[in-house]
Amino acid sequence: MTDVLNYKGANPSVLRHDWTADEVEALFQMPFNDLIFQAQLAHRNHFDPNQVQVSTLLSIKTGACPEDCKYCPQSGHYNTGLDKEKLMEVRKVLEEARHAKASGATRFCMGAAWKNPPAKDMPYILEMVQGVKEMGLETCMTLGMLDEDQAGQLAEAGLDYYNHNLDTSPEFYGSIITTRTYSDRLNTLAHVRDAGMNICSGGIVGLGETERDRAGMLIQLANLPKHPESVPINMLVRVEGTPLEDVDAVDGIDFVRTIAVAKIMMPASCVRLSAGRENMSDELQALAFLAGANSIFLGEKLLTTANPKESSDRQLFNKLGINMEDTSELDEQALAKVCPLREQDNEQYFDAMKSDAMGQKAS
Ligand code: SF4
Repeated sequence: MTDVLNYKGANPSVLRHDWTADEVEALFQMPFNDLIFQAQLAHRNHFDPNQVQVSTLLSIKTGACPEDCKYCPQSGHYNTGLDKEKLMEVRKVLEEARHAKASGATRFCMGAAWKNPPAKDMPYILEMVQGVKEMGLETCMTLGMLDEDQAGQLAEAGLDYYNHNLDTSPEFYGSIITTRTYSDRLNTLAHVRDAGMNICSGGIVGLGETERDRAGMLIQLANLPKHPESVPINMLVRVEGTPLEDVDAVDGIDFVRTIAVAKIMMPASCVRLSAGRENMSDELQALAFLAGANSIFLGEKLLTTANPKESSDRQLFNKLGINMEDTSELDEQALAKVCPLREQDNEQYFDAMKSDAMGQKAS
């Protein structure tokens, strides 16, 4: 018991940025019960264990992406029968955001299938950020690679989070994507951080990677100068027409292990149970929450793939006694508990609760 409590790599109160491959592989090799126990300890040290943050994700520009990510139905390199859609009108995006807020989402994420956002579309993108923020929702976007200037414009418009996943380890990356490099990815994350935005970055389990690759991806994330505030861990959704349609399915226990290791390495980050929930049983999702996942996407669609119905999510939360985080009702102290990184780095965090829309000045 003492060994489990004192496992040297897993002090739940320390945010480390010097993880080694051997240490992380040792975490993956721990007996499952010990690993989950460590992850739960780490989680409870930073979060209310019975609260889950809820985001909604909308595809604002769908398909015909010039990138060749082998898992993605939106890539223009594969024929998946997807209906392509050009950039959605600002008015329509704001309508969707209003609906998401009414359904209990606290963060509204907007995704566009681009290599990088075209200059001609940036004014519309900025209008979307401003409009969603004025509703009192946190804003998140995923638009591909950003240069320094674009990151600055988005931050100035009030974008809270930028999603840019590393997907897998640097070693395995070239087997999955050839149209950009790992360094391109890291450069965008650096621009996002330098512009003062929060980072949402994680990866995918089930691409055909080894456990060492899963460890390698988590090491890249945890050893960034600051941990991403949000770490989505996706289970591959195998879409017909993509090169990965026939890859072996991920073992549920291996998936939960990845969540637990992510939580131990980045205990103050929200770990998001992301794509693939549609194919998970209630029991597997419950294990993922036990392993420290504390964020989900609500809504029946995740960009272009299916997500559980809102009603089944609510039933599951009821069964587990989990509350959805509603930041609009929280005071400052409670907000710090839900997302402690706000407190630690409040110069970099632009708080939606203090935006002009709430009649107060942004900090
Ligand atoms: S994952 Fe993103 S960048 Fe890759 S093909 Fe899909 S939309 Fe494009």
